[in-house]
Amino acid sequence: MTNPGWADWAAVEKVDPELAAAVMDEVHRENSKIELIASENFSSPAVLAALGTPLTNKYAEGYPGRRYYGGCEFVDVAETLAIERLKALLGAEHANVQPHAGAQANAAAYFAFLQPGDTFMGMELAHGGHLTHGSPVNFTGKMFRVVSYGVRRSNELIDLDEVRDIARRERPKMIVAGATAYSRIWDFAGFRSICDEVGAVFLVDAAHFIGLVVGGVHPNPVGYADVVTFTTHKTLRGPRGAAIVCREEHAKAIDRSVFPAWQGGPLMHCIAAKAVAFAEAATDDYKAYTRQIVANARAMAETLEEEGLRIVSGGTDNHLMLVDLRPIGLTGKEAEQRLDSVGITVNKNAIPYDPEKPFIASGIRIGTPAMTTCGMKEGEARRVAHLIARTLKEDRDDVRRSVSAEVRELTSRFRPYPDVA
Ligand SMILES: *Cc1c(COP(=O)(O)O)cnc(C)c1O
Repeated sequence: MTNPGWADWAAVEKVDPELAAAVMDEVHRENSKIELIASENFSSPAVLAALGTPLTNKYAEGYPGRRYYGGCEFVDVAETLAIERLKALLGAEHANVQPHAGAQANAAAYFAFLQPGDTFMGMELAHGGHLTHGSPVNFTGKMFRVVSYGVRRSNELIDLDEVRDIARRERPKMIVAGATAYSRIWDFAGFRSICDEVGAVFLVDAAHFIGLVVGGVHPNPVGYADVVTFTTHKTLRGPRGAAIVCREEHAKAIDRSVFPAWQGGPLMHCIAAKAVAFAEAATDDYKAYTRQIVANARAMAETLEEEGLRIVSGGTDNHLMLVDLRPIGLTGKEAEQRLDSVGITVNKNAIPYDPEKPFIASGIRIGTPAMTTCGMKEGEARRVAHLIARTLKEDRDDVRRSVSAEVRELTSRFRPYPDVA
């Protein structure tokens, strides 16, 4: 097929050179830094191309075959492809691919089951939970009676006995498993039995690890959970957005809660790009990619420990780790800035029982999905870990210069968009 005229970058440069320059600066930044933010990834040219299509034009409120507008026959095909692919990837009975983002997916899923004022149980933000798991600054904290569980102080692992005790005492209507900064495998069967005992709906927010589930390197929550929500742009490497899968018995409640309760018209170009990402995720290449994500995270965690840094809970089973910087006398804020100055991007992150305020924090969070997309393997993961440790332990100009040069050497070979000059 010929290249369609709309996917014409030169047109953007002509109409809006200011915006075009900002976009190209961002692409160059992505190409020239080592990206270790655990929630980020680089979507493929095929996903980006699907995002930039005239499907953005179409109003399609409703679901395939049941729309409130005419002319939906082709976007119906796109959405059905996304739905069927996602069900096959996860072995799910029902899928909704319309949520605009993870927070919207969670809102829709919660209100399919809960009323304002109901008791809701999620992981404590300070221990790795997400804002939408009951933080007081989020709608969840404002609209529900929130009870939280955390990790045990001694081993920094989720303590299912504590989860059960709290659930028995507080009788939540929903229990959420999932986090933004937990490096271990969740005991889905254990959570299920607690939910059954107290009569709670079991929701898994798989935003971070869903790609690992699809790749077969992480247990699948489908089959244990009533509902699973997740973002499509993190380990799954698709467009920014989210999806929900659930048991057939909850299909109607979930669909109605996404539309018309929480959202208006779906973003059909994003849904098309989700379909493309799900096709990519079904390949052996993607499976190999997820194995490499986990291998890279292990290699990095081991190397950082050899360097004298402390990994929260003693290691990682997934794509991320939390690094406690107190052994080297740095805060998360200082570490984030110092690494940024040599071209390594991470985020400061509270560690469990952190004595510092969240904006300072005692840790950093490191994730390997993005660097693995660029082709880095265990050798590079170890090298990057040594560069991180050197930068954090030796606050000197000559160290910064030499680490920056090594980062440039690595990013000249491992970059997300090598075709961009
Ligand atoms: C990223 C994330 C979300 C929210 O996703 P957005 O797309 O940023 O709204 C929700 N839950 C968890 C656990 C996440 O990691």
